[in-house]
Amino acid sequence: MACGLVRTHHGNTERENEARGSRKSEIGDLRAIGNSLLRAVPGYHPAAVKPKDIPAVHRILDRERSRRHAPVARLAEARDEEPFRVLVTTMLSARTRDETTIVVAERLFNVVRKPADFRSLSLKKIEKLIFPIGFYHTKARHLRRLPLVLDKLFRGRIPDTMEGLCELPGVGRKVASLVLTDAFDKPAICVDAHVHRISNRAGLVKTSNPFETEMALRKTLPQRYWKTWNFLLVSFGQTVCTPLRPHCKSCPIRRFCDRRLNRESVVGSEGERNEGRRQPR
Ligand code: SF4
Repeated sequence: MACGLVRTHHGNTERENEARGSRKSEIGDLRAIGNSLLRAVPGYHPAAVKPKDIPAVHRILDRERSRRHAPVARLAEARDEEPFRVLVTTMLSARTRDETTIVVAERLFNVVRKPADFRSLSLKKIEKLIFPIGFYHTKARHLRRLPLVLDKLFRGRIPDTMEGLCELPGVGRKVASLVLTDAFDKPAICVDAHVHRISNRAGLVKTSNPFETEMALRKTLPQRYWKTWNFLLVSFGQTVCTPLRPHCKSCPIRRFCDRRLNRESVVGSEGERNEGRRQPR
C-alpha cells in the first residue's frame, strides 16, 4: 500500500488523519485570533463571573454539589465540626487525596481524641498511624509538637483567630481559614488549588497565587458566601472543572466562564499540562 494510505485502527488512512488534525489546529488558531481581536475592541468584555452573577453561580454550584457526591463531601461528613478534628484533618489533607485522608483520619481518631493524646505517642507511632498521607514524616513531627505549642501559647485550647492558628506547627492561612469557617463559624476564605484555579478560570479574579486570590475574593465575594466557597469549588473542581481536562461542554456555569472562550488556544499548552499534574489541595 502506498505511503500515507495505510489504514489506522480507526479505519482512516494516515493522510486523512493528518488532514483532520491540521483542520482542527487551523480552527483552533482562527478561534484564538478571533478572541484576541474581540478583546481589542473597546468596551468588549469576555464572559466572566461578575459580582452580580455570584448568587446564581453559588446556587448552581450548591445544586451540583448535592448531585455529584465529590470526595470532599465524604471528608466533611467524616470529620464533623469539632475544632481539634477539623484542625488535624485539614493538616493531614494538604497534598493528599481526600479518599486517603478519610481513611487515615478515621484510623488516627480511634487512637487520638484530644491534642494531649499525641504526647503519649512516639514519632514513629504517629508516622505509622498517618501513613500514606503526603509528607507524613513532617506532619507527624507537627502533630507531636501540637500539644506543646497549644499548652505554651493557648492554655491547651485550639485558638479561634487567624494569627493564633498560624502560630501552630504546620498551619498556614489555608488550614487556618478552614478551621475558622468550619469549626468556629467565623468568616474566612480558604483558598486551595481548586479555589485558586476555578476562580481564575471563570474570570472572577485575575491573580497569580492563592494569597492574591484570597485577597481578591475578600473584596469581590459577599461575606455570606465565604464559608461555603471552598467546599463548593473543591467539590466542583473534583468533578467538573478538573485540573487537566475540565468538562466545559457539560459545565453548568459555562455561560459565565471566561476560560471557555479561550479553550482552543490553551488546551495542550505547556502551562495547561503543568496545571494538570497532581493538584494538592
Ligand atoms: S468546566 Fe470549563 S466552562 Fe466550567 S468553569 Fe471550568 S473552565 Fe469554565
